[in-house]
Amino acid sequence: MKTIPEIENKYITDGGSRCPSCGSIELDPGEKDSDSNYVRQHIECNDCDASWIDVYTLTGIDKLEPGKPQNKVFNVNNIKYDTDGENIDLPTHLSVTIAGAHLMNDDEISDHISDEISNVTGFCHKGFTVTGLDT
Ligand SMILES: [Zn+2]
Repeated sequence: MKTIPEIENKYITDGGSRCPSCGSIELDPGEKDSDSNYVRQHIECNDCDASWIDVYTLTGIDKLEPGKPQNKVFNVNNIKYDTDGENIDLPTHLSVTIAGAHLMNDDEISDHISDEISNVTGFCHKGFTVTGLDT
């Protein structure tokens, strides 16, 4: 005797096209009932009167059209510059705006800020602290 998972597995393999009770393809799909992350659909077999619910789960997304990048501002403090011993008046605080920061991990954000400090001041640095970053 077949176990339920085997029947279910065969049903899924067949793409939900055959009655899991009698194998008929005369299926009568009902309305799809959907929520944000699942879809359920009531199905009846026209040959043997079996009924069941197809359960769909979210497995991915397709054709994403990215929207506008969201800017996020980071407050960079305690910048320690590498000035080769020269005493140069450089800002110890900067605001750095990063577009699409929510798509970056903390290391990528740190790298971005690090580059920005060098671009803005023209100097390399030995470290900084950031607020608005989980480290
Ligand atoms: Zn059937």
